[in-house]
Amino acid sequence: MNIGIIGGGIIGLSSAYYLMKAGHRVTVINQSDGHESCSTGNAGMIVPSHIIPLASPGMISKGIRWMFNSTSPFYVRPRLSGDLIKWGWEFYRHANKRHVDRTAPALRDISLLSKAMYQELSRALPFDFGYHERGLLMLYQTKETEHEEVEGAAYANKLGIEARVLSSKEVQELEPDVRVTARGGVYYPGDAHITPQVLMHRLMPYLQQQGVNFMPSTSVTDFRVENGKIKTVITSRGELDFDEVVLATGSWSGVMTSKLGISLPMQAGKGYSFTLQNVEKNSRIPSIFLEARVAVTPMGNTLRFGGTMEITGIDHTINMNRVRGIVEAIPTYYPEMKVDMPKKEQIWHGLRPCSPDGLPYIGRSSTISNLVFATGHAMMGLSLGPGTGKLVSEIINQEKTSIDIKPFNPERF
Ligand SMILES: Cc1cc2nc3c(=O)[nH]c(=O)nc-3n(C[C@H](O)[C@H](O)[C@H](O)COP(=O)(O)OP(=O)(O)OC[C@H]3O[C@@H](n4cnc5c(N)ncnc54)[C@H](O)[C@@H]3O)c2cc1C
Repeated sequence: MNIGIIGGGIIGLSSAYYLMKAGHRVTVINQSDGHESCSTGNAGMIVPSHIIPLASPGMISKGIRWMFNSTSPFYVRPRLSGDLIKWGWEFYRHANKRHVDRTAPALRDISLLSKAMYQELSRALPFDFGYHERGLLMLYQTKETEHEEVEGAAYANKLGIEARVLSSKEVQELEPDVRVTARGGVYYPGDAHITPQVLMHRLMPYLQQQGVNFMPSTSVTDFRVENGKIKTVITSRGELDFDEVVLATGSWSGVMTSKLGISLPMQAGKGYSFTLQNVEKNSRIPSIFLEARVAVTPMGNTLRFGGTMEITGIDHTINMNRVRGIVEAIPTYYPEMKVDMPKKEQIWHGLRPCSPDGLPYIGRSSTISNLVFATGHAMMGLSLGPGTGKLVSEIINQEKTSIDIKPFNPERF
């Protein structure tokens, strides 16, 4: 079949990979050169540990507390927007234990599928994208966070995801080269990490060599629908006809689907990262500084710090106060690491595509028969990319999907 994928982030490229492997003719349309997506400067964590969706108990009260501190990791810009109000209402409705219990197994299954796909990719692709299986350390400073994390570890173990509660001394033993200050931590040995910009920048030319057609700097502006099918995709560089269309436009997906008369609740969750170069004494294992909500990942001899979640719409401004919040958290956990405030031009930002219930949208549209959704992966899109790509290819090939995709139904709201 002739398949058009809109969006060239990790979800679009992963879908292209598996569809190309299945023998289809694939075109990836991306509105920029592909290097500005959310998929390059992120923290690179592959996280089967993350089985609790963003919409979970305690998030509303924490969010409200954080809203009033300009260096805190979370912010929602109050706006009179129908989309934001609907999204906020759905988030509120889902931030409870029942939702977590219902969805955690689905997140586990797609995460494990995706990790298995990463293992395969690390063997199959002709370049090294820094795939390492060293686990993830969740570090905490306070009794309150310890309590939450230990509960989270027990929950993960119950669902078959190994989690070990470590003392401060045991944490330090895992990090021989960096001094760590923490009350303790939870170690998830099954997590992994990659260098995302290497994967993204090398996968594109590789796919091109394999026959995938790329249309960079091309925006999809509209669609022509006939008999319940997308007949034509209208772009800034002409019109294209496809048998199947995959929508992988990340944070822009709500805008895209509105052109098809479909409502897809989506908010962009902006985050920042910066990367230290030539780090002599580097950490070995990715960590999350829990109270500060900062993700830290060693990538070769570099060390990346990422964090914050600003729900401010499609907005590319950089808020230096939030970046300061990340920088100031570092010595609390790594007391010997002195990190200066980076310059604005050294800061990367990305817009996480956030659905209100913390689950991605993966599946076929019931109203437009040749449209497949693959979006809304929020904080886990890198992690879930290859698994999602595999599922997209199974949906289009009308095969039995590797896991149950009902929880990801794009029409659940
Ligand atoms: C600071 C930070 C740290 C993170 N850390 C991690 C992590 O450690 N692990 C993890 O799993 N995830 C992480 N994430 C989340 C992850 O980066 C995202 O979930 C993921 O990149 C989303 O991928 P995507 O392909 O859906 O979207 P994107 O990468 O944003 O790609 C969508 C693409 O669609 C294109 N597009 C949009 N509209 C159109 C149009 N009309 N026409 C043509 N093209 C269009 C855009 O230009 C863009 O290139 C992090 C995010 C941030 C911000």
